[in-house]
Amino acid sequence: MKKHNFGAGPGILPKEVLTQASKAVIDINNSGLSLLEISHRSGDFDAIMARSKELVKELLGVPDDYSILFLQGGASLQFAMVPMNLLPENGTAAYVQTGVWAKKAMKEAKMMGNVDVLASSEDKNYNYVPKGYQIPSSSAYLHLTSNNTIYGTQMKSYPDSPVPVVCDMSSDIFSCPVDVSKFDLIYAGAQKNMGPAGTTLVIIKNEALERAGRKIPTMLNYKTHVDGDSMFNTPPVFAIYVCMLTLEWLKSIGGVPAIQKINEKKAALLYNEIDNNPMFNGTAAVEDRSLMNACFLLSRPELDQEFLKMCKESGIIGVKGHRSVGGFRASMYNALPYESVEALVKLMKEFSMKTV
Ligand SMILES: *Cc1c(COP(=O)(O)O)cnc(C)c1O
Repeated sequence: MKKHNFGAGPGILPKEVLTQASKAVIDINNSGLSLLEISHRSGDFDAIMARSKELVKELLGVPDDYSILFLQGGASLQFAMVPMNLLPENGTAAYVQTGVWAKKAMKEAKMMGNVDVLASSEDKNYNYVPKGYQIPSSSAYLHLTSNNTIYGTQMKSYPDSPVPVVCDMSSDIFSCPVDVSKFDLIYAGAQKNMGPAGTTLVIIKNEALERAGRKIPTMLNYKTHVDGDSMFNTPPVFAIYVCMLTLEWLKSIGGVPAIQKINEKKAALLYNEIDNNPMFNGTAAVEDRSLMNACFLLSRPELDQEFLKMCKESGIIGVKGHRSVGGFRASMYNALPYESVEALVKLMKEFSMKTV
């Protein structure tokens, strides 16, 4: 049966990417060797690293005074690396608390300096994105989360900030255009919208390097990875290769503006059903709804299991909501075809007909 993968992460990848990746595991560039057994210092891998960076630069329009890194440790390690590298010991960093990921980032920053929570949506279980807060010009940086994967909220615009902006874009990078020049640092775990688990994209303004003025362990210092071209130590070769293939795929279908249109179309189809079918209720504030993760509840929660069962029978996978929101979450990352959303909406209609 055809599967429709709405999983929140690791998320769906394009079929052609998986086919190409599986070939490279057996034989890379007709070399008679697997991608997994060649030196990361070889010409074959050098080309993969260079092409991956080139694609990031091109697809996001990264300015020349930024470095593009492929690191390990997930977005979760960035929660610590950001303050280690950007927050001086007696400094204060400003955070907007839009969910548990933001909260985890704050926890790490508190170990390096002071944290100023400018705004939080915890009062409503993070179902909206706070706006209109003041950003103190004394902050070392402002930390934001562009898309709150668990609650299905997304920032539709960024505040004008008097201080450098850092953003966790793990779950919506490459889904819509961003003006990279407005950020000093962007990070994203690859496994939501860019590739497999195992690498984290970091885009850092060179000016921001060595800003905290503290001693930093070598591997946790961005400077090490900029100087080492993301190959100070053995990089996660497979994860980077699959990111490269996914970005090549994105470029081939027209890049970020083209996928944004498709993402908007997919989200409109699903939210339209959520809004018009009395069996379903969206959980996120309408103006802050995410194009990537749509969260919804049944108006008769006693039927949750039955809905899940019907989904499973139709090949609709990964729609169970996160435990902190409950209900359902349909993640519509770049690689999810429009037809998969059509299949889900069709099932939602059938389900409500069957149960009224
Ligand atoms: C998934 C996710 C993370 C955690 O990523 P890891 O790579 O597993 O550490 C952090 N932030 C956001 C917004 C996420 O969606």
